[in-house]
Amino acid sequence: MTDLSSLIRAIPDYPKPGIVFRDITTLLRDRDGLRDTIDALAGPYRGVAIDLVAGVEARGFILGGAVAHALGAGFVPIRKKGKLPHVVLAQEYALEYGVDAIEVHADAIGPGQRVLLVDDLIATGGTAEAALSLIQRSGGDCHAAAFVIDLEELGGSARLRKHDVAVHSLLSF
Ligand code: IMP
Repeated sequence: MTDLSSLIRAIPDYPKPGIVFRDITTLLRDRDGLRDTIDALAGPYRGVAIDLVAGVEARGFILGGAVAHALGAGFVPIRKKGKLPHVVLAQEYALEYGVDAIEVHADAIGPGQRVLLVDDLIATGGTAEAALSLIQRSGGDCHAAAFVIDLEELGGSARLRKHDVAVHSLLSF
């Protein structure tokens, strides 16, 4: 198994002073790292009836698409506001300053479908909680959420678990 943490690049002061950005592009470009990451994200859900993987724009698309393929599931994109062409459900969430919104096609997730949420990283959990809300408002059953990185001190995974969602991360920083 590849040492995944050694393939993740820490960028100080990005996107603003005081923030250490965890850059997974260095992991994605490594063939062993990418394969082991997808295997590890999908592993707990093999043999579980997952109908759909929902990935959050943009890195959640790369990882989520590959995890969906590994699990034999379909893929649903959760996009930033205004990007999806058909009728959407929208969910706002708080940023440090102001609000943003993510959207899903209103007909993408059928009632009772079992969904695995995938993103590269969970920090405060605001994005994942908004994605969970979209899945639930669609009638879907969010079985679990999987991330490469959990910035545990920011409380996002604990926040998600309060909604009775199983959270699985490969690395904590
Ligand atoms: P949260 O909503 O605070 O949990 O932030 C998580 C979202 O922001 C995810 O969609 C991540 O892709 C993105 N994000 C926040 N910090 C980082 C980082 O250090 N590296 C990569 N993505 C990040």
